[in-house]
Amino acid sequence: MRILVVEDETGVAESLRRGLGAEGHWVETAADGHRGLELALGGGPYDLVVLDLMLPGPDGLEICARMRAHGDTTPVLMLTARDGERDEAAGLDHGADDYLAKPFSFLVLAARVRALGRRAGITAPAPLQAGDLVLDPEGRRCARGGREVELTAREVAVLACLMESPGRAVPKQRILDEVWDSPVAVDPNIVEVYVSSLRKKIDAPFGRRSLRTVHGTGYRIAPDGG
Ligand code: CA
Repeated sequence: MRILVVEDETGVAESLRRGLGAEGHWVETAADGHRGLELALGGGPYDLVVLDLMLPGPDGLEICARMRAHGDTTPVLMLTARDGERDEAAGLDHGADDYLAKPFSFLVLAARVRALGRRAGITAPAPLQAGDLVLDPEGRRCARGGREVELTAREVAVLACLMESPGRAVPKQRILDEVWDSPVAVDPNIVEVYVSSLRKKIDAPFGRRSLRTVHGTGYRIAPDGG
């Protein structure tokens, strides 16, 4: 799912980004109410919004109410203060679908997110996944640990070839056949060029090594994301 997280505590926002990213979701974060409102109303579209109640700028209640006033029915999971019964009631009154009191367990949050997604009937095709590396070839989007990585169309196609068979060696020729329209006229070393540029984008900046060379054959991707 494509999830917007509006949370001003950077530690919480970052762990949600990483945790939800590792579950295969796309995560966008906003660190205050103004940005949150801007993204909630104009960004996305999102499948779900995780909304902190107390925020600098417009608070979670206001953002949620404004979304509903715009006819936006995206499921909202509100994060409230501990023992904040009044917060919970207010959140639901302002159009939130569910709430979770802070501090929360990530496992519980992830389960609530899945439940809200199911209730909303979101059946987006599962993206390709290798550990915290997620690729949506249709949408041409790639993320590592919830952090978006910009790839060209050709890079996406090469990576998809490898991620469709995680852990297995994919011959260079097969990548050529699948990604290039006229492989005969293409220098097979071109695959190497693309794998090397992929390594610079999805591995090196994250201190990872997911794209392995299988000598004499081709390449394989580590199923755990390296
Ligand atoms: Ca807060």
